[in-house]
Amino acid sequence: MLKKILIANRGEIAVRIIRACREMGICSVVIYSQADANSLHVKLADQAVCIGPAPSNKSYLNIKAIIETACLTGCDSIHPGFGFLSENSHFAKVCDEIGIKFIGPTCKHIDLMGNKSKAKETMKNIGVPVVPGSDGNVSTEQEAIEISNKIGYPVILKAASGGGGKGIRIVYDKNNLVKEYNIVKQEAKISFNDDSIYIEKFIQNPRHVEIQVLSDEHGNAISLGERDCSIQRRNQKVLEETPSMAINDDVRKQMGDIAIKAVKELGYHNAGTIEFLVDKNMNFYFMEMNTRLQVEHPVTEMVTGIDIVKEQIKIASGENLEYTQNDIKIIGHSLEARINAENPDKNFMPCPGIINGLHIPGGNGIRIDTAIYDGYMVPQNYDSMIAKIIVHGKDRKESIAKMKSALAEFVIEGIDTNRDFLLKILDNEKYVTNNYDTSFIAKEFNV
Ligand code: ADP
Ligand code: ADP
Ligand code: MG
Repeated sequence: MLKKILIANRGEIAVRIIRACREMGICSVVIYSQADANSLHVKLADQAVCIGPAPSNKSYLNIKAIIETACLTGCDSIHPGFGFLSENSHFAKVCDEIGIKFIGPTCKHIDLMGNKSKAKETMKNIGVPVVPGSDGNVSTEQEAIEISNKIGYPVILKAASGGGGKGIRIVYDKNNLVKEYNIVKQEAKISFNDDSIYIEKFIQNPRHVEIQVLSDEHGNAISLGERDCSIQRRNQKVLEETPSMAINDDVRKQMGDIAIKAVKELGYHNAGTIEFLVDKNMNFYFMEMNTRLQVEHPVTEMVTGIDIVKEQIKIASGENLEYTQNDIKIIGHSLEARINAENPDKNFMPCPGIINGLHIPGGNGIRIDTAIYDGYMVPQNYDSMIAKIIVHGKDRKESIAKMKSALAEFVIEGIDTNRDFLLKILDNEKYVTNNYDTSFIAKEFNV
């Protein structure tokens, strides 16, 4: 078993991983930036090392400093969390070369799935249904025009290296194609340092349903069921749930089976998520694979009772999965809400600052993953997500009631948050009656 893990992340996910380490008797080392000297992950870890100034590229993305810290502190492994270096194949490769276990898949698999158009091609060859679109990247305006005419409008232009909901544009009218094509190309270059673009059919009114898989280094793979992440703002998830109300048991089984088949054929190991779009007729299409732990992993933990971070660590230690598919039972229903330091009335502008009054909710079936505390200064340099509320109810109705109760109880003073916005979603008739798709927030709230 791994003995000492460097956690190359911050915020709630770093705290989440520290807790898993502690429960397993594993030593934790965290890195932090100068802006994070007073952060909870620094206080809770067994060891903490400041590796640079606030900007991510000087600290949480500073591969050299991170590797040096891991070596100097005697870590045998690195957990990247999500965001930052979690999907950086070069980082995984450096870890490998230096003899530090990267807690995740191989650099080869990160690379393959990190390029979303290559990933689609690979999945298509395995027999996974994919969203219709270009075969690989589109390199000229003329090619973009021809392919879009062939698949029919609306189409969606996507950055091959995109992530976090960025580098995506819908084109409804063929007269706008060339203009949008060049905009996405430019955005992709700036945000991802890679201007490759691919084109897909825009699936109308879909649900986002993803399958969580776990696979070990010995060829065993299981599915932990699905998560429905259709409540999104600008292609970024806001509220997630499991089970999904958009599919039935038959489709659920088909999606799980195909996800397992894919990871087995790829020889993929560790945790991974295969994202699909599901249309009104329950046809499902592969969209992308995230080769890391996901923000919304706790909803799966609530209904399966399986600790995904611990499983990642065990898999990286070379252990066999201790569960077979038959052991996986989905109990009840779970919801997650992402609390962001942002102002919904000011176009969701991030709102860093000092928290000067805090009450964190609790209760039966209520879990709060956060790194905030009273007096904590939310820095301006990083992602605005400051907490996740995860609830577990016997069914969706009870989950919604619990989530509303927990949100109403949550007091965060000194900064603006999206708490009230989340409450409005939970009160929305269409949401409550499961009559929604990925355009829900845009349509109902005009944002
Ligand atoms: P999830 O499916 O886990 O919700 P997200 O797409 O929200 O995944 O990404 C998780 C975190 O990683 C977010 O903080 C997001 O901003 C960040 N992230 C994901 N992909 C990228 C990327 N390519 N570049 C920068 N940040 C990213
Ligand atoms: P990211 O890497 O940023 O997570 P994804 O490819 O997973 O990007 O897409 C993010 C979201 O954008 C999806 O969850 C979905 O809501 C929307 N989306 C992406 N592709 C399509 C499509 N072909 N048709 C309709 N919506 C799409
Ligand atoms: Mg995605």
